[in-house]
Amino acid sequence: MKLANSVKARDRARRALAGGVDSPVRAFGEVGRKPVFIKKAAGSRITDLDGNSYVDFCNSWGALILGHAHPAVVKAVREAAARGTSYGCPTEAETALAEAVKKAVPSMERVRFVSSGTEAVMSAVRLARGFTGRDLVLKFDGCYHGHSDGLLVKAGSGVTGIVDASSKGVPRDVARNTLSIPYNDLPALERTFRKCGRRLACVLIEPVAANMGLVLPDRAWLAALRGLTAKRGALLIFDEVITGFRLAYGGAQEYFGIRPDLTCLGKIIGGGLPAAAFGGRRDIMALLAPDGPVYQAGTLSGNPLAMAAGLAALRELSKPGVYSGLAERAGVIGKALGDIPGVSFVSAGSMFCLFFRDQAPRDYAEVRECGAAGFRRWFHAMLGKGFYLPPSQFETSFVSLAHSAQDLARFAAAAAGAARGAAA
Ligand SMILES: *Cc1c(COP(=O)(O)O)cnc(C)c1O
Repeated sequence: MKLANSVKARDRARRALAGGVDSPVRAFGEVGRKPVFIKKAAGSRITDLDGNSYVDFCNSWGALILGHAHPAVVKAVREAAARGTSYGCPTEAETALAEAVKKAVPSMERVRFVSSGTEAVMSAVRLARGFTGRDLVLKFDGCYHGHSDGLLVKAGSGVTGIVDASSKGVPRDVARNTLSIPYNDLPALERTFRKCGRRLACVLIEPVAANMGLVLPDRAWLAALRGLTAKRGALLIFDEVITGFRLAYGGAQEYFGIRPDLTCLGKIIGGGLPAAAFGGRRDIMALLAPDGPVYQAGTLSGNPLAMAAGLAALRELSKPGVYSGLAERAGVIGKALGDIPGVSFVSAGSMFCLFFRDQAPRDYAEVRECGAAGFRRWFHAMLGKGFYLPPSQFETSFVSLAHSAQDLARFAAAAAGAARGAAA
């Protein structure tokens, strides 16, 4: 495969951009080979600077559930841009999108828009602390909640490559307020609550863990989490930046039938533009400035282009049959990858992940046992065959509504062959 223009672009980027990228996971850091710089995208395909075209299963890390350059989203953004790109004043578009969010996710009685998932989670945690008057945050090993200081403790996604699975530059005094325990571990959860349940401001969780590959929650464990938080007065925060509008229109909370106190949304909600949100119980959200004493703000929050894109995306997603159609698409892949020796296939709705391990991992420690070499071989074999996947074992792949039956059939056959080869 010719990648000369991408290599040139990467070398030029490295002289101007730190590390040559604006988000570490884009660097193929783990796989350390030739880069792919993208020129354009449409539907299920992205095209690089050398004219190679790939069927995309990364979809901007899950943001593009409709696929690339969806006509309804492009039209909405174009029309919004012609009316001005930012006002620094309230607009009806923000209210309209908030109303759509409330309807989809009833636990979000009040909503606040921000520009990134990081901001959404950081703000929700501050609000939880303001509401409870407590400092401690409990999270789970391998869950990623954005790059704010206190949440880089034992985080998944790109942070896994860093020693201690945390970041330098986080003050010990900050990290000390974050506790992290294994996912799916009920005894550890009960122990933590016995020890410091009354000092926890919140428990923060990815209800399906999608930043350490894909790890499914034990339903009883999730239910116990809701029970324990309610009993001890700690808020339950669902980080649905990935699962929101993905696992179901109402997110993981609809899928599992659990009502959190606060919810964070991102990725899909911006329709591919920078938007995210947090929201939840009215009595908690009432503490936010300007009504309350917990400060939170943003120059471009609720940006009219992002609101227009988000609204257009939700309009498409609220049509009947969308989520069953997505699950059917993932099913085609699951059927082909379901029983390959030395490989486990995990999926939830339109998310899927391949582990080079006999059994699906249940927590971060088990994810880290998986053969990284196998994943690397699989990833590069797939890239060579024209399929773009998130370039790390610690990420999840995404099916979009733009994937055609032919895309999926070709992918399934190629992926099964490549996985057999990589596992051998
Ligand atoms: C992507 C992600 C974030 C961070 O969102 P950004 O928009 O990248 O800041 C937070 N939580 C989860 C679960 C995510 O997947």
